[in-house]
Amino acid sequence: MNLPIYLDNHSTTQVDPRVFDAMKPFFLEHYGNSASVQHTFGWNAEAAVDQARKSIADLINAEPDEIIFTSGATEANNLAIKGIAEAYSSKGNRLISVMTEHRSVLDPLASLTKKGFDVTRLPVDEFGMIDLNLLQNSVTSKTILVSIMLANNEIGTIQQISDIGRICSEKNVLLHSDITQAVGKIPVDLKESIIDLASFSPHKFYGPKGIGALFVKKRFPKIKIVPQISGGGHEQGLRSGTLNVPGIVGFGKACEISRTEMIDEMERIKKLRDRLFAGLKTQFQQVFLNGHPEKRLLGNLNLRFANVESDLLLAEIRDIAFSSGSACSSFNPEPSHVLQAIGLSEREIKSSIRFGIGRFNTVEEIDYTISKFVLVVNKIRNSSSQFLSRFIR
Ligand code: PMP
Repeated sequence: MNLPIYLDNHSTTQVDPRVFDAMKPFFLEHYGNSASVQHTFGWNAEAAVDQARKSIADLINAEPDEIIFTSGATEANNLAIKGIAEAYSSKGNRLISVMTEHRSVLDPLASLTKKGFDVTRLPVDEFGMIDLNLLQNSVTSKTILVSIMLANNEIGTIQQISDIGRICSEKNVLLHSDITQAVGKIPVDLKESIIDLASFSPHKFYGPKGIGALFVKKRFPKIKIVPQISGGGHEQGLRSGTLNVPGIVGFGKACEISRTEMIDEMERIKKLRDRLFAGLKTQFQQVFLNGHPEKRLLGNLNLRFANVESDLLLAEIRDIAFSSGSACSSFNPEPSHVLQAIGLSEREIKSSIRFGIGRFNTVEEIDYTISKFVLVVNKIRNSSSQFLSRFIR
């Protein structure tokens, strides 16, 4: 077993060596611009992009021409939200989302609020689930977009996206979903779920960083989006810029692998996750699960250890990569808005940590993690009780 151990697979994942092998020739040999239609280098690149687009579409039950390449899910979220708001502002100014969304959804929405849009952020229950009745009642004739993520990046909660899709379709309002944490890890069927727009990126499922996509459903009437980056008119005019061919090839390969291996992998990751949770629970009385007990991503374990600050755990445990609930991003020192939304106190948030188990983790690594946590949590709890006992005499 090699140290350090990587248990932060919601943040990003290791590129699968098979993905890397597929990408390599597109840096060194087939380095043409996929828009160069006059020569073989361009044709090779274009063929590879076409093949990848098909593999990506196949994984989520979409059509290849419904995939618009972007630089990642952040850009795809921005394109969907700002692009729809600008295109439909004459129809209405109301957008609906959820308090636990990723910052790349919440921040574009906040910028639209400043421009006069009326944005509702629905609350969630203690497990991170939205109330479907509340959603239904919140949609008015002025609503132009509902944006609700499929799986949460912090607590792993999976929303009932098919029901949400049905409500939006009955109310004739567009549904966008940030499916970034779900794609490649759980089956996603965009046709069955009646989703109109969806954002995702392959670095969350063993593909490269710096590439992503926005799915835009082909429907009648055509969905209108105002491009946020203009230039050469690439990607049906929705996102200009020379395509990242190696990234796209890697994206396609990551999708192919997930498509064939997902079911076995889900089983394996669930076993590792359950082993980790069971191992910690038998050692500690006061360890609690944040998020939904069943409707959650299989690799996600968001835990709180009573009376143990996550910052202390991070400081003491240097050979295991996990993340704390005290900051939702390293650029933002605020406590996690997701853990706040599910009703945790500041103290509970400060003692929360997230494990993200992935494809390359092993039983050995999980067992090492359990024993390391037993050592460190006990040490911290003992030293804080000794500290307190000096005062409470
Ligand atoms: N949405 C969710 C749910 C995410 O977890 C992330 C990555 N943390 C993003 C969007 C942003 O993705 P990207 O890094 O591809 O911009």
